[in-house]
Amino acid sequence: MSDVTEQKPPLLAGVVGHPIGHSRSPLMHNYWLKRYGIHGFYIPLSLPAADFVAGIRSLPRLGFKGVNITIPHKVSMLGLADNVTDRAALIGAVNTITFKDDGSIRGDNTDGYGFIQNMRQNAPEWDARSGPALVLGAGGAARAVVSALLSEGVTELRLANRTRQRAQLLADQFGAKVQVVDWNRASDAVDGAMTIVNTTSLGMQGQPDLLISLDSAPKAATVTDLVYAPLITPFLESAAVLGLTIVDGLGMLLHQGVPGFELWFDHRPEVDDGLRMAVLDR
Ligand code: NAP
Repeated sequence: MSDVTEQKPPLLAGVVGHPIGHSRSPLMHNYWLKRYGIHGFYIPLSLPAADFVAGIRSLPRLGFKGVNITIPHKVSMLGLADNVTDRAALIGAVNTITFKDDGSIRGDNTDGYGFIQNMRQNAPEWDARSGPALVLGAGGAARAVVSALLSEGVTELRLANRTRQRAQLLADQFGAKVQVVDWNRASDAVDGAMTIVNTTSLGMQGQPDLLISLDSAPKAATVTDLVYAPLITPFLESAAVLGLTIVDGLGMLLHQGVPGFELWFDHRPEVDDGLRMAVLDR
C-alpha cells in the first residue's frame, strides 16, 4: 500500500499578453491567493499573436480555469470566445476568460465594472446621474468607461479626443447621449461636468502632461485618471488644488480583477489597502 496521499492539484489562472513583464496582475492575484490560503497560482504568459489561438486552446488541457487577456490580444479574443457577455460585446474587447466544463470559452470585459467600483469605493458620494460627464480620450479604455457611465445612467456625456474621428466612431455606436467635443475645446467642456475622466495615456511616466484646465469645473465635481503610474498624475494634482474630489486609477485595475478571481478560485476577494501596497510595492 502506498503512503503517498493524492493531493488536489493547484488551481491555475494567469494573464496572457505580449509582452507581459510589465503586468501587475500577478502581484494582485497572488496576493489574494496567499491571503485567502487558496492552493493556486496565477502565472504571466507571454504569447505572440502567431501563437495566440493555439496557446489559448492548450490552457484548459494544462489545468487552467481561465485567464486575463491583455495587450495586444483583447480584440482578437472577442472572436475566439464561444460566448461573450453583453458588456464585452459593447466594449468590443475581452479581458477575462473562463474555460467551461463543456469545453467552451466564456469572454467578459471587467474594465467598466472596475471603473465604477473604484469610483464607488473612493468617492462614495459620486453618482453618475448627478450631471454631465466629460471623458478625455477615445481608445480601448475609453470604450469601457463610456459604456459603464451610460449603464450608470449618465444623461449627457461629452467626449473629446485628439483624433476627433475616433471619438465620433464611439458616439455613433453609443448613441445620442454622447456628444463629441473638439480636443482643443475640452477645457470649455469642463464647465458643468460633474464627472471628469482622463482615459488618455497623457500624464503617464515618460509621457507629456494632460493640459486641460479644470478651473470652470463645478466644486462638487469628481475627477479621475486611468493612469496610475504615477499614482497622482499632474492632472489629478490640478484637481486637488481646486478642492475637487479625486480618484486615482489604481483602484480600477484592482477592481477589474475581482470577477475573474471569483470565477477561477471560487472566492470573492476584497480590494483594500494591503492589496494596494502589494501592487504598488514592486
Ligand atoms: P489606447 O487605446 O492606445 O488609447 C490611447 C488614448 O490616448 C487615445 O485616446 C489617444 O488619442 C490618446 N493619446 C495618446 N497620446 C496622446 C497625445 N500625445 N495627445 C493627446 N491624446 C493622446 O490606450 P488605452 O488602452 O485606451 O489606455 C489608455 C490609458 O489608460 C493608458 O495609460 C492605460 O495604461 C490606462 N488604462 C488604465 C486602466 C486601469 O485599470 N487603471 C485600464 C485600462 C487602461 P488618439 O486617438 O488621438 O491617438
